[in-house]
Amino acid sequence: MERIAIFPGSFDPFTKGHEDIVLRGLHLFDKIIIGVGYNSKKQRYFQIDTMLPKIRQTFAGNDQVEVVAFDDLTASLARQYGARYLLRGLRNTTDFEYENSISQINRHLNTELETIFLITSPQYAHINSSIIKEVHKYGGDVAEFLPYKL
Ligand code: ADP
Repeated sequence: MERIAIFPGSFDPFTKGHEDIVLRGLHLFDKIIIGVGYNSKKQRYFQIDTMLPKIRQTFAGNDQVEVVAFDDLTASLARQYGARYLLRGLRNTTDFEYENSISQINRHLNTELETIFLITSPQYAHINSSIIKEVHKYGGDVAEFLPYKL
């Protein structure tokens, strides 16, 4: 049976830290679906229509990676794609606190679902989408944190 994982997130923007989690996840899974969360209540800085092609371009030529936008529960997205795994990255204890609760809820919503955490590679541990947004907003150069050109 194919091992399919969903890597869900806001990816606002998708960073080299996220790319690293996907590339390492490919050693564990046959296929990774990157689900770009599109929440009508949460204001995005980098629009979905801008981000999807950038992420697709990052993994161009790799047919093990698929990039989709979603506005649904992650647990439902997983069911839709026949994914039994959720892939998430952990940078620090703050991530852990949040990820711990969300993984319990996801398993409650979809009992087939197992969340797999990869600890961030040290060279990407400081990369944070919220900070990148702030820096970009005020005209700072964020190119070194992103795996594509904006
Ligand atoms: P969300 O809004 O769902 O938290 P994010 O786009 O911020 O989405 O993050 C998606 C996933 O990637 C989360 O599991 C997060 O902990 C992880 N992540 C974020 N930044 C990094 C990084 N620099 N290195 C490794 N994992 C990361």
